[in-house]
Amino acid sequence: MIKAVRGTRDLLPPETALWNFVEAAVRDVFRAYNFQEIRTPIFEATELFARGVGEETDIVAKEMYTWEDAKPEEQMANGWLRRQSLIFRNALPSLSKDRPRWVVETRDTVFPLEAEIAPRITTLERLQSFSRLAREVRPNVRPLLLHSTDFAIGEQFRVEAERLGVELVGIEVDPPQRLTLRPENTAGVVRAYIEHKLWDRGLNKLYYIGPQFRRERPQKGRYRQFYQIGAEVIGPASAGSESPARDAEVLEMLATLLDRLGITDWNLELNSVGTPADRVQFNEALRKALDPVKEKMCGDCQRRAVTNPLRVFDCKVPEDQPIIETLPRITQFLGEDSRKHFDAVQDILRSVGVEFHTNDRLVRGLDYYTRTAFEFTHGALGAQNAILGGGRYDGLSEALGGPSAPGIGFAIGEDRLVMSLKETAESVLRRPDVYVAPLGAGMNGEAARLARELRRHDMVVELGDDGFRLKKSFEAATKAGAKYILIVGENEVKTDAFALKNLATGEQVSVPRAELVQKIRA
Ligand code: AMP
Repeated sequence: MIKAVRGTRDLLPPETALWNFVEAAVRDVFRAYNFQEIRTPIFEATELFARGVGEETDIVAKEMYTWEDAKPEEQMANGWLRRQSLIFRNALPSLSKDRPRWVVETRDTVFPLEAEIAPRITTLERLQSFSRLAREVRPNVRPLLLHSTDFAIGEQFRVEAERLGVELVGIEVDPPQRLTLRPENTAGVVRAYIEHKLWDRGLNKLYYIGPQFRRERPQKGRYRQFYQIGAEVIGPASAGSESPARDAEVLEMLATLLDRLGITDWNLELNSVGTPADRVQFNEALRKALDPVKEKMCGDCQRRAVTNPLRVFDCKVPEDQPIIETLPRITQFLGEDSRKHFDAVQDILRSVGVEFHTNDRLVRGLDYYTRTAFEFTHGALGAQNAILGGGRYDGLSEALGGPSAPGIGFAIGEDRLVMSLKETAESVLRRPDVYVAPLGAGMNGEAARLARELRRHDMVVELGDDGFRLKKSFEAATKAGAKYILIVGENEVKTDAFALKNLATGEQVSVPRAELVQKIRA
């Protein structure tokens, strides 16, 4: 049996009703704050995430699903064909009469050209056997070995090739494009902002709902394909994108959304991670503090202590916590502007009555954050207790080659949001209002006509089959959870009045066609 891949899962009814319920509430709430939807592709150039999310983050360093697009040999053959006229402009005419058919691309790929398979030549032994083979098959032809110019052919290789009479010709090939399933959506949104010059619109308030992919160790609440609901406020500073009012508005919107979904016991943790300038000093202090203690910490922390000390605060290993508690905090290193900005965000939150806690250990797992950083947690979720996280990313657009475009955003883990709902799928699932049961052979047409009429009145209608006996129709209607069953038999059609039975109370009445909608709705 073929199963869903580890870390992925099927979302089935009735649970999907809960997902739809969440997404409908999200769209409703976001609309009230004037956010509009953006849909970006599920895969992007790998470089976008390397630059946008940061090479040193766990996501980019070890969790991305990346591949080289198209078969490498196709890609290389294309590159070769496109360039051969240029590169071999002079050489080709003399070669064309008895052109060798063994065309080889080294490094780690081989492409066949002109229908003969070339051996993979990456070692001297292979070069020797290639040359031998070439001579056996085409004694008159001087073997030509093409190698890509980004593959350094060693001196020994060169000498041996000469001895064997193999001509080495360097060619340029396009490296295959590297693509990645998006591990998050902010980089994609900012890429789209730059690509479509969205700054012309002033302040952009965009939201998205969709799957993200990370190769993490699967556990409850953590998947390899998971869903995020996110929003971004981004634009030129002149449009107000840097204002603490935007941070507070986003946070207040999130509080409203969670309340609306009936998730009341959330906890908002707030921090400022400062500007890159603030962090220079902080990183320095952190490195210094970590130096004498890092040996006692977990492997990840030892690596982080060197590459990206801020990430140490992400560590969840219990034994490391007492050490982390003693480390300096970013709050001690915030510049005047960052501090004022952070204070202003807090003031507005107090004024709108959104509760929060400051947490100076909160740094978030992505490199692009500046100043405001936050997380909403929920006790019921256990170890994976963060429902959502976000923050400012004032330098991200520039890091991706765009203009200055300060921004703030968040991503809600939809899987976890659904898990923490008190609502059950049953309570939001809309069951059929009526089950239309054709009774007797040849009644399917009449029943379909009636179902069509009812559905036009926005009723949820399940339609049976005239091959079912009455008992089976009743069973099917009950299983579907329908409120009523409507019998469409020959008599009913003749009198244009139909037997309608309430499946809960057992009450049965005959209802004229024109009154059906009203009666079912009552
Ligand atoms: P991040 O993009 O890492 O800031 O994550 C934002 C939110 O997405 C987190 O708070 C989680 O709720 C959710 N999330 C992140 N990774 C996963 C995952 N592997 N499985 C399920 N939810 C996740």
